Amino acid sequence: MLIPRKTVQSKRVNAFLEIRSSRIHGRGLFARRLIRKGTRLIEYVGERVTKKESNRRGLALHEASLRTGGASVYIFELTDTHDLDGDKPYNHARLANHSCDPNCEFINEDDRLYLYALREIEKGEEITFDYGYDIAHFLDHPCRCGSANCVGYIVRTDQRKKLRRLLARKSAKKAEKALRKGDA
Ligand SMILES: [Zn+2]
Repeated sequence: MLIPRKTVQSKRVNAFLEIRSSRIHGRGLFARRLIRKGTRLIEYVGERVTKKESNRRGLALHEASLRTGGASVYIFELTDTHDLDGDKPYNHARLANHSCDPNCEFINEDDRLYLYALREIEKGEEITFDYGYDIAHFLDHPCRCGSANCVGYIVRTDQRKKLRRLLARKSAKKAEKALRKGDA
């Protein structure tokens, strides 16, 4: 039997990156070629907003995510007074997924955010960075990055040990409750 092959659409972003569907989550960014460690790959662009406006949007996003289950946070800290809301279709950098073993990181250079390669990246590899979420609401952010050190939830590096310990002792629900009550 001849089974029709579905062509997976990919879209070129720049010399280094393209957009494709991701096994981690939704669409992701992928390397179009071998990328050397330290290469600047893309700028995170969006709307500059004051801290006050950014907090308002952050809360609204959080509430929406509780209703829809889609927890997408696109706001980055930029300066002491302003943040960057990257929830814009033209901001391709927003498509980079989280990994517990990321190959890229964002660096703030003169109040602009750029994604840099942390190591050499093979052609075809998915581009990832550490979302750095706080442990408090970890249940809202399950992780499917598939890396060997994945803790199952998107939680920033320095809190993963704690989460592992908690999960070993309690069920995920109880662990989160304990964290919120502060008796973890
Ligand atoms: Zn993970």
